[in-house]
Amino acid sequence: MFRRPRIDPAQLRLAVRLLETAERVVALTGAGLSTPSGIPDFRSAETGLWSYVNPMEIASIWGFRQKPQRFYDWMRPLAQTIVEARPNPAHQALMQLERMGKLSAVITQNIDALHHKVGSRNVIELHGHLRTISCLSCRHQDEAEPHLRGFLRTGVLPVCPACGAIMKPDVVLFGEPLPELEILRAQEETLRCDVMLVAGSSLEVMPAADLPALAARRGAKLIMINLSMTPHDHLADVVLHGDVANVLPQLVSGLRNPPPQSA
Ligand code: ZN
Repeated sequence: MFRRPRIDPAQLRLAVRLLETAERVVALTGAGLSTPSGIPDFRSAETGLWSYVNPMEIASIWGFRQKPQRFYDWMRPLAQTIVEARPNPAHQALMQLERMGKLSAVITQNIDALHHKVGSRNVIELHGHLRTISCLSCRHQDEAEPHLRGFLRTGVLPVCPACGAIMKPDVVLFGEPLPELEILRAQEETLRCDVMLVAGSSLEVMPAADLPALAARRGAKLIMINLSMTPHDHLADVVLHGDVANVLPQLVSGLRNPPPQSA
């Protein structure tokens, strides 16, 4: 039977105290932030997304150019899930932290745009996103959702209205460069923060994996929130093992209603 991990109240209080005294908090989020919204961690073996395919063949830029139909057929269940997904309390909590003037940026590995959907303003997407779709021939760019919904409904691949070529969602595929500007912005925010809040990322993938250590070297405190242990827990000042959709709202309400000072 799955038991919900118990959050250590002392660690929770410590996290609230770090956030209270912080001037600039930066959040780093990964797949775990969106699993409560029903989006599976598509890197994990359990989703089955990679079970019968070689990702380098299908989810790579050369695979896309060779056989776009195969790429779209493969991503169909993921696209279906993502266009229907709604932000969860973890996304809401980070948006509220930004509104409270605490959080300066959300750096995310997720492509689902749920931070945008909930209203977060400064979002840095390290692996691209499904918000827009581009033509590889003439660079024409459109909002992705109408194209994806059309594909999901009819099975017809998204076509560039300007030149007729097949369009590709602006997610970073294998073999494509990472978005340089976003990485620079992420590093800049990391160097300027005094608390980094890592939520729902197991920090296995570059360039995100490097950022907590970079923050720590500059003297920032690290708060890690994840369902299970990660190899980077030892770097953290506070480790909270729990569901991000449960822990992050508790941090925000702790900040809003600070406990009375004990003598
Ligand atoms: Zn075009």
